[in-house]
Amino acid sequence: MRFPISLYSSITSFLLKNLLKGQKRSPLVLMLELTHRCNLNCAGCDRIRLHAKEQSADLSFDQCIEAVLETDAPVVTITGGEPLLYQELKPLLSDLLLMKRHVYLCTNGLLAESFIDEGKPHPRLTLNFHLDGMEETHDRIVGKKGTFKTAVGALKKAKERGFRVSTNTSVYNNTDIRELEKLFELLKKSNVDGILISPAFSYESVDDNIFLSVEGIQKKFKEMDGFLNRFPLMSSPIYLDFLLGKRKMHCTPWGNPTRNPLGWKSPCYLITDAYYSSFEEMMEKTPWDRYEAGKDPRCTNCMVHSGYEATATRNAFSNVRDLFRLVAWNMKKT
Ligand code: SF4
Repeated sequence: MRFPISLYSSITSFLLKNLLKGQKRSPLVLMLELTHRCNLNCAGCDRIRLHAKEQSADLSFDQCIEAVLETDAPVVTITGGEPLLYQELKPLLSDLLLMKRHVYLCTNGLLAESFIDEGKPHPRLTLNFHLDGMEETHDRIVGKKGTFKTAVGALKKAKERGFRVSTNTSVYNNTDIRELEKLFELLKKSNVDGILISPAFSYESVDDNIFLSVEGIQKKFKEMDGFLNRFPLMSSPIYLDFLLGKRKMHCTPWGNPTRNPLGWKSPCYLITDAYYSSFEEMMEKTPWDRYEAGKDPRCTNCMVHSGYEATATRNAFSNVRDLFRLVAWNMKKT
């Protein structure tokens, strides 16, 4: 099973509760960027560029807990920067698990080994490793030799110790799909619980021409269509249809709200028009219709999972066929 049943039941009860309250927009996943500090220098990342400019302090422990309570989202993705650099990570994780949240802890893997040695697995905690290709490619993208070996070593160790483990891979215009197939074979052999794949987003702060257009994304994913179903993908079949150009979808920018050291980031994980001091203010003041309708020029080539997986989940909960498809996909052994 790709996602635990407890995740589905948390999401279902959260959606029903908000439906009864008449809440039109209720985010499922909080993106909690604890810190913008990082021990790598990845080619497609705008947070390290932002940090070089702003030098922002990490979120405090209390700010993190407040953010979780403000959104009430059942899933918390802990990200950054590199979250394993965050001083109070362990107490934060144990509080989030006590608060019954499903936690995805993103990491580049460099500091993961000691975390795995000292930490305890939990059914609602998943370690999510960033891997954009095999050794040479990944090390080039992240700007540091040896990162691939360290990350793969750590994820294997995490699996041996009983942790839930997933990976996330961004697709760029120079991504070699045969190499991704090889990477996914390796991850499957290492018994990872899930593989997340998404086209990378074309950040304005990243100068290099490494990002794909909508046509380019559809072409790449069509080329991968023959092999993706052999692997334990976490990217839903509804979202994959969208990437393949088989269905149209609107973005759900509020589906994954982002709290980071600068405030509540509006409108989405990828673009920033304003920061607000509270989640409520961000929800009230952001002109959601504009982004949901894709009217912003920066949305033109965006098909990123943080904008569209929430749409796929909403579709499934309002369309019986999609719901059955999602349930069957979740149960399917790969
Ligand atoms: S389409 Fe992409 S860039 Fe535009 S609001 Fe949605 S997630 Fe953000």
